[in-house]
Amino acid sequence: MAEFIKKSYLCTPMDKVYGYKVDLKGMTEDAVSHRWVLSDDFFSAVHGPEIEKGQVDVALRVKRTAEAFELEFQFDGQVEVECDRCLEPMNLPVHGECSLDARLGEEDDDDGDLITVAENPGVLDLSWYLYEMVALGIPMRHVHPEGQCDAAVVEKLSGAGKEKPVDPRWAALEQLKTKTNNKE
Ligand SMILES: [Zn+2]
Repeated sequence: MAEFIKKSYLCTPMDKVYGYKVDLKGMTEDAVSHRWVLSDDFFSAVHGPEIEKGQVDVALRVKRTAEAFELEFQFDGQVEVECDRCLEPMNLPVHGECSLDARLGEEDDDDGDLITVAENPGVLDLSWYLYEMVALGIPMRHVHPEGQCDAAVVEKLSGAGKEKPVDPRWAALEQLKTKTNNKE
């Protein structure tokens, strides 16, 4: 967790992602809810490695306790990722839950279990966290159902390394040879 929370403050592309913030300091009630839809715009702005497109509903419930803020997320939707076999895009359903604890402190910090948000302005930017949450829900290996991969690409990939690209002149000659052989 340390990795990606830090990234949310340092990564430049992140600056383009607005609206996925929670004002912890300004909470007027002990519990608040947020709803977001992570769409193609979100995923392209975050510029994460795994997901380029998607449509994911996120519900967040923030509870303020004496010690900390408890954030509980639920997400449900689908994302577009690259098929491991044919490298063509494929849609994957994603859903899950996760939680996060945060507190206000002097400066932004993250010790893995607890996020500290600088008291000024006391706002937690969740954009990268939301991305990671969805990305972690993607199975390690994801391929199209049997028979639905791009056949041409699969053939090319399985032949890769074994054959050199064929000079078109040789290919024409090869065809001629095949035709001749078939006549015999
Ligand atoms: Zn495929």
